[in-house]
Amino acid sequence: MMESYPKYDYLDIQQSFFIWHRSDKGYFWDEEAMAGGLFAATKDGKPFFLEEFPLSHEERKKIEKEKGLSPSPFLLPLPETEGYYPYKPLEENPTLFLEFAETTPTRKGILEFANKYGMLLPNGETQVFSEAYRLREGEKPPKWVLGTDGLLKDRENNKYAMVFGESLRFWQNEIQDMAFAVNVWEALKNEDLEFLKRVILWHAENEVVSVVKTNIPKLVLLNRFQNAADVSKVTESKDTLRAIHDSLPTKEDVPLRVQLSYIAARDYKKELFSRFVVGDLLLPARCYIQAAINEKLKKYVVKPRLLLDEKNQLKPYLMPESLLAAMWYQFYLTVVGERQFKRCSVCGRWEDITDKTVAWTKHETCANKERVKKYREAVREAQKLYKEGKTIEEIAEELGRSIEWVRKQVGKTKTFPKRGKI
Ligand SMILES: [Zn+2]
Repeated sequence: MMESYPKYDYLDIQQSFFIWHRSDKGYFWDEEAMAGGLFAATKDGKPFFLEEFPLSHEERKKIEKEKGLSPSPFLLPLPETEGYYPYKPLEENPTLFLEFAETTPTRKGILEFANKYGMLLPNGETQVFSEAYRLREGEKPPKWVLGTDGLLKDRENNKYAMVFGESLRFWQNEIQDMAFAVNVWEALKNEDLEFLKRVILWHAENEVVSVVKTNIPKLVLLNRFQNAADVSKVTESKDTLRAIHDSLPTKEDVPLRVQLSYIAARDYKKELFSRFVVGDLLLPARCYIQAAINEKLKKYVVKPRLLLDEKNQLKPYLMPESLLAAMWYQFYLTVVGERQFKRCSVCGRWEDITDKTVAWTKHETCANKERVKKYREAVREAQKLYKEGKTIEEIAEELGRSIEWVRKQVGKTKTFPKRGKI
């Protein structure tokens, strides 16, 4: 099914590492594609075979709503795709789940991510009808699509290649789930109560504790709300809702989400509730993380495998079934302390520091860039002070540099200042 690209071949005799693929030509948003075919399902999990196609925009939206189908647009591989590049997300991109969490959940942001890392599930979210995959008379489907028998046909007997897509809504939900959980995790680790009190809610006279799951950005949460009760009431006022939504950079594409769900209560998960101290935010937040990761790993499965290592010993390996499973597994490893991440103090990107010292603060390349930048700034400052009339000795002292160094730098300036003018 997959083309093989020699430069991406791995010395992997067992072929049992987790390998994911991305289209060599990339992906696109099909605004008019529609869920349908042998591998499409309604919200009740029943197969949904679309017999009438194409449909008008209105007809399509009506069926999608009635049947509970994921709505368009759908992310699909470009029809020009010739093959798929394999890569190893777990080994090559240990911070991928953090990159995913920080992906802007718009068409543009998601497309950039997919072009780098591929789609989220092995066979997409659902099979779709796409005009981009309509076959002309005598045309064969691309050889990488699953199966060439039983091609889909529309009511005019046009044939369609079997293709799988992932809806914008699906991607947005997955990114937001990850982003929210990562935010709570970071806050938990830093004991950031200012953030936690805006998402963990003690209510019903402290008999219930809930999480207010939202895609409102952290900064907006901190600036515009006092606590989780305020956040949970956002949807009650259409005006507030609109004001918040309008302040988001992604407003065109992304519906605002504020969703309250129980963590525990006096009569729900009683055992758990009995461990909570009224008003505490940390343990409920930890329980939320526990539930969020468990729920995802139940859906996006990771299975144990045995690998033969270079010394011919059997070693455990966990094999995700999808990119989503791999990313939630990465998160899982972080939470159980097997992997550690830190943000680079220069570029702000995440780095896997498991095998580095705890003192790690920045990428080496970032540190170098920073050093070069600081050096240039010092040179400029020396030249500026010299022009302003300071003596070489004064400048050396002010900048903490040697007199020779200052002399060398100011010697490079083109315009020589009049001396002694202070
Ligand atoms: Zn950096």
